[in-house]
Amino acid sequence: MKIILLGAPGSGKGTMAQKLTSDLKIPQISTGDIFRKNLKEETPLGLQVKDIMARGELVPDEITIEIVKNRLAEADCANGYILDGFPRSIVQAEALDKFQQIDCAINLDVDKEAIVKRLSGRRFCPDCNGTFHISSLTDAAVCPACGGKLVIRADDSEETVRERLHVYDVNTFPLIEYYTKQGKVLTVDGNGSIDEVYNRILAVLNK
Ligand code: AMP
Repeated sequence: MKIILLGAPGSGKGTMAQKLTSDLKIPQISTGDIFRKNLKEETPLGLQVKDIMARGELVPDEITIEIVKNRLAEADCANGYILDGFPRSIVQAEALDKFQQIDCAINLDVDKEAIVKRLSGRRFCPDCNGTFHISSLTDAAVCPACGGKLVIRADDSEETVRERLHVYDVNTFPLIEYYTKQGKVLTVDGNGSIDEVYNRILAVLNK
């Protein structure tokens, strides 16, 4: 199954993608993770996107599209994948339509206030890419999955979060209409606990 996860920053795309990956045995393709890995390894791509990401802006479409096109051509994507954070603009969605036929776009619908609360309490593990909320951690500095040191993502600062939400409204929100016209949108209430939201996703996928 070829699935896109749509939703604002902090709507839970990454968390849901990780759960779907382990249940459906298809890879999670997160453009944000790909860019963060390049940043950490200080590759030419990482250096190119560093400032753009820190400002909460979008990496240029042509760079992002090329990366995803190459990644989806790899063998592990043959039986499907979960796209987490791509596409993020109409230009990216149109490009994707030219090289892949996706089955559905799950739209995680979360209240704006809940999003700001989630992002401001978010902690990230650079070692295993895990994302956690401080409310679920006994130690806010230690990754409960791998024991790594948790950090606050540079782009989770209040100012950058505001810019990312604005970028979402302008560039990414129109994708809901784009995929609705294709009859591919499955909207899921993204408020509530991780298990509640995940069960709603499974329910719409099983229909
Ligand atoms: P994420 O982890 O999905 O929130 O992505 C973090 C940052 O990576 C975004 O704020 C963008 O700067 C960049 N990024 C991730 N995915 C894309 C995309 N599809 N198009 C452009 N920029 C992206």
